[in-house]
Amino acid sequence: MNPQLSHFVLKAGRVIDPAAGRDGMFDIRVRSGTIEAIGVDLAPEGAFVIDVKDHIVTPGLIDVHLHLMKGLGAFGVDPDIFGVGSGVTTVVDAGSAGHTLLNVFRNYVTDNARTRVLNYINLSTLGGVTGPGYSILADPRLIDEAKIEQAVEANRDIIVGIKIMATGGALGAQGLKPLERARKLGDELKLPLLVHIGESWTKDTAPVHVGDVLKYLRAGDIVTHMFTVHPGGLLDGNGRLWPQVRDAKASGVLMDVGHGLHNMNFDVARKVLDQGLHPDGVSTDGHRGNRAGPVYDLPTTMAKLVALGFSLNQVIEMATINAAMLLGRGEELGTLKVGAPAEISVLKLEDREWKAVDSQKGTLPARQAIIPVYAVRGETVYETIPADRP
Ligand SMILES: [Zn+2]
Repeated sequence: MNPQLSHFVLKAGRVIDPAAGRDGMFDIRVRSGTIEAIGVDLAPEGAFVIDVKDHIVTPGLIDVHLHLMKGLGAFGVDPDIFGVGSGVTTVVDAGSAGHTLLNVFRNYVTDNARTRVLNYINLSTLGGVTGPGYSILADPRLIDEAKIEQAVEANRDIIVGIKIMATGGALGAQGLKPLERARKLGDELKLPLLVHIGESWTKDTAPVHVGDVLKYLRAGDIVTHMFTVHPGGLLDGNGRLWPQVRDAKASGVLMDVGHGLHNMNFDVARKVLDQGLHPDGVSTDGHRGNRAGPVYDLPTTMAKLVALGFSLNQVIEMATINAAMLLGRGEELGTLKVGAPAEISVLKLEDREWKAVDSQKGTLPARQAIIPVYAVRGETVYETIPADRP
């Protein structure tokens, strides 16, 4: 179980590293936690050999949207379940912590995890304390720019952006004012905004129009839940992309899947994809309530995108270098570099018929399953935690 190895070779896997333009059979040598060589038929040199023939080997997979504060409300999940336990080396919490909880997050989540855990700080001081159905931005005092700035500056190494719930339920009587404040704060702190769209939690308030939300976003900001079927999504009443969505994408706003319990709908996905809007990041929106389905893990979410028509190489690119760039970590994550710390995922591609299920129980026939096998971080080779995948 999770052996620690000072010198090992991942032998004869199919290495797919889109950022490096690599797709072929290679060995990878890891010594003292660092990638020492990538090549064909590397000499053993006394290394422990891990045979990964018939497996896919990729840069460490990155899941850009989850809820990882275990013990917080109904959602918090241990980061190593969707992380190294699912073949994923980097996971990113989307707004569990507001500024008052950020140190708690750092000390109890990031510092105790075997997976790399990054963080979007919540614009609202309440973060995930109340659960998502509450008006966490409806009182102007619930946004404290000075305190957010202090928390960010003390934790720049783990902070990748600011999370905002752009729903009628969360914004309440404040309307779009919190977005205006978020825009200003993002510019000052030089951090992107991660914006939740879709009224998946609150049904009794008028939805916010995505076109109004997008007015506040710029290149590098991220919209999550791009395939939501709930009011406030990317499509108009006729199933066409709102024109503002095309304009935002053209200006560099990024789109994330954010599968979750509510927001992956295959019919919406097909319409969005048919109109040429593709995801920049693929994420589970993983939490305690969707591990046992419909989400399971990032590789299963990737396999759903394959069932929707993407190639294996495309979804690996989304979950590696594209995700790294979305997080502003393109220099350090998302590709296999000789001399860099080992962050590697090993997957099994199974050619078999299975039925992909979305958040509304819609189904899609799928022909390839992607099963996580190992996550490598430094000297440790993590085996996956069993999940009841389809
Ligand atoms: Zn989420």
